[in-house]
Amino acid sequence: MKKTWKKCCSLIVAAGMVFALAACSSGTAAPSADTEKETEAPADVSAVDSVEDSDDASAGLSAAASEEASAALSADAAAFSTAAAAEFSTAEAAAFSTEVAPETASTAATDGAQTAAEGINYLVLVNKIHPLPEGWEDALETVHTTNSLGDDVEVEKKTYDAYLLLKEDLEKEGVYVDLDSGRRSVADQQRIMDDFTKKYGADYAAKTVATPGFSEHHTGLALDLYLIIDGVDVVENEDMIQYPEIWEKIHAKIADYGFVLRFLEGKEHLTGYGYEPWHIRYVDSVDIAKEIMSTGVTLESYLGDVNETDVDIDYGTSELYSQEDLEEAAIQIKCSFASWKGCELHSLRYAGDECCTEENIAWLNSHEGVTEKYTQVAEFLGSFHSPVESGLSAWEPDYEYTDYQWWLGRTENGGWEIVDSGY
Ligand SMILES: [Zn+2]
Repeated sequence: MKKTWKKCCSLIVAAGMVFALAACSSGTAAPSADTEKETEAPADVSAVDSVEDSDDASAGLSAAASEEASAALSADAAAFSTAAAAEFSTAEAAAFSTEVAPETASTAATDGAQTAAEGINYLVLVNKIHPLPEGWEDALETVHTTNSLGDDVEVEKKTYDAYLLLKEDLEKEGVYVDLDSGRRSVADQQRIMDDFTKKYGADYAAKTVATPGFSEHHTGLALDLYLIIDGVDVVENEDMIQYPEIWEKIHAKIADYGFVLRFLEGKEHLTGYGYEPWHIRYVDSVDIAKEIMSTGVTLESYLGDVNETDVDIDYGTSELYSQEDLEEAAIQIKCSFASWKGCELHSLRYAGDECCTEENIAWLNSHEGVTEKYTQVAEFLGSFHSPVESGLSAWEPDYEYTDYQWWLGRTENGGWEIVDSGY
């Protein structure tokens, strides 16, 4: 039932779990704030609780998910690199990252250094796992503009030019937008973090403010739009989300100007954020933007950083769990799997209520590092395909694994966590 991971695989799984924790933790605690968008200190804590969160209710993740995510992330990222360093020599680590990165655009995601002479890499990937590359801020050229609210917004130069064309085009269709947020420097983000820490304590700050260095807004290429409807500024996320038909019109146009939508519905496990119709990202290529938008993939998967495949999920029937319960469990697995480099998850099925025995609950609770007492257990069985060239991977190359087991535990009031997996 349980299998010890081979050494190199443990790194892969560790990475997967880091991201799972980061992007998908379905804990119930913690107030919510959209960590990408969230920048300003609120008037009070409840203001943060009620607004800014990126997860819309239909996304299937608890509202707390994305912000807990960012909280966990920098620490996780640090833990991950420490773990990686401990497990691998530098050369091995280098080989590992080469091996897992497809040759195409993905290298762009990890190219670090930027120089003023080279300019910036418009396909850079900055998210909860990939920090802003070193030297980025030195190479960046920006412009400042003032929005209809009178706020100063800073945007990368070409991004701003493209945005103006997009805005003009939208206005022809009667759609009016403005810029709520553009570039935020790492120093700005640090100031917000410090401010929150001072006001509300380190734990709260870590949960509500994007980790400095790990926000796409640092690039200057990410824009948060707001709507102007009948001359009225509609700025709050929960208000903006009420206008799906307007966002649809906007999203239909953005690729024509080299922008993509970053935080797609149902892709939280890949991007680390819930749906954000207002957050668009400039990629400086209409062709690439059109390819990404027409196929509906995340920038992460376009750049080869995660796998994005359709998974056939069979929830079967359950007397114990609702469909929603099981969907949440499946999301945890998909999250974890997203970082299994080169592997493709094909199917998942709930193993049935007979998995929820006292014995299995006791077994989950006996796992090392389990501090919470699980009261429920769910088992999923899945099939996945290993990479054609396995390289450093522990898997047999090009092989379809079937009936692979995932064991998830849930506390009385908590979310699902993957506690064990293997054969
Ligand atoms: Zn944003």
